[in-house]
Amino acid sequence: EELAQLIDSMLRDVPDFPLPGVLFKDIAPLLADAAAFNACIDAFADLPAAFEADLIAGVEARGFVVAAAVARAVDAGVVPVRKAGKLPPPTVSARYELEYGSAEIEVPVGLLEGKRVYLVDDVLATGGTLAATIELLTRAGATITGVGVLVELSFLNGRQRLEGQDLTSLLVL
Ligand code: IMP
Repeated sequence: EELAQLIDSMLRDVPDFPLPGVLFKDIAPLLADAAAFNACIDAFADLPAAFEADLIAGVEARGFVVAAAVARAVDAGVVPVRKAGKLPPPTVSARYELEYGSAEIEVPVGLLEGKRVYLVDDVLATGGTLAATIELLTRAGATITGVGVLVELSFLNGRQRLEGQDLTSLLVL
């Protein structure tokens, strides 16, 4: 597909980042290209799951960039999913396992109760981050309308961890 090819052409492969043996997909060139960035945001904004949402949630930090742009396009608000310790109380938090060690994320309480939320991030890798985020948003009272990522690294099987979700990946590698 045309958009997938455009995205693919904008990614930069960075070997051994952030750890030896990991091939990091750098999406900075994609975000820095006006036409490519716009095309990605328009693709999300065309999805019923996105344009029916009250709020767009983005995962710190690159997810914020996507979330804010999609929110503007569909006339929704935006809500941050942050690393633990950054948000003022009250929050709900979840700890989850990474390939090495664990991480903790938080969302604000009070903004999410009864809201329809579309969740976005830049890259779906193992799915641990988005699975934990979905659990958190649900605990905070939100209904997840769907999940969108720019790039899915399918060999890491993250999709399996988002079972039952309406997942859109603009590029599957
Ligand atoms: P997870 O393994 O799906 O939980 O990915 C964890 C987080 O790391 C996600 O929020 C992604 O944004 C980020 N991430 C993982 N792999 C890459 C990559 O190759 N490029 C950019 N971000 C990545």
